[in-house]
Amino acid sequence: MVKESVTRNEGEDTLRDPSLQIGVLDLQGGAQEHLDHLQRIGVISRRVKGPDDIAGLAGLIIPGGETTCLARLLHIFGFEEVIVHEYRRGLKLWGTCAGAILLAKENVGESRYLGLIDIDIKRNAFGSQMDSFTRTALVPGVAPDPIPLIFIRAPKIIQVGPGVDILLRLDDYIAAAESKGVLVTVFHPELTPSLAFHRYFAAKCGLSLADRSKSPEPDRPWTRTSWMRFARIGGV
Ligand code: GLN
Repeated sequence: MVKESVTRNEGEDTLRDPSLQIGVLDLQGGAQEHLDHLQRIGVISRRVKGPDDIAGLAGLIIPGGETTCLARLLHIFGFEEVIVHEYRRGLKLWGTCAGAILLAKENVGESRYLGLIDIDIKRNAFGSQMDSFTRTALVPGVAPDPIPLIFIRAPKIIQVGPGVDILLRLDDYIAAAESKGVLVTVFHPELTPSLAFHRYFAAKCGLSLADRSKSPEPDRPWTRTSWMRFARIGGV
């Protein structure tokens, strides 16, 4: 079911209704850039600092960062049970990079964390931080034009199980996949000007947005709060 369109002009009640919001886990890692992108597509977002911030949300983004650190914080603050409970209720999840590792059923050679999507993922599979890279790729299920991708000490998805669709396969690995309730990307759409994956996730959460598919305008770079204003990668 598609929920009513969300715009910033709607009443106070709508602005507060969690079922029209996407949360971004903000314990460690790249939360701000996801919040910026959600704002740019007109979705009301919420900074998730504690387990109580998750109840009733349409979606939750688990950002990139450092998996071990994030996993420890999830445990210390008692997030795991709440995320699993809300996922069973219908919360959609999107993990970028470390977030994808936290959501995977199999974390090759290491322990599993939330285990909510049937993928085998291998951490730091491209090498060290110095082996980070950018490229572009067409992701037909997500957008009609090629999308810029940023891989930062990224994992590789090695294989997917039943009920998981591959959205992007590159070389010898899978870079994006999804099940009914979970989206995973090993790269960082929030660090590029492209809003395509954020729109895709908002639609997965049942939030309707203004249809931009016919607009020839590329997404404009943003520099307001992102640390990416200091970098010259990803076309920013
Ligand atoms: N290399 C990190 C880890 O395995 C993930 C990096 C990222 O999220 N960009 O925890």
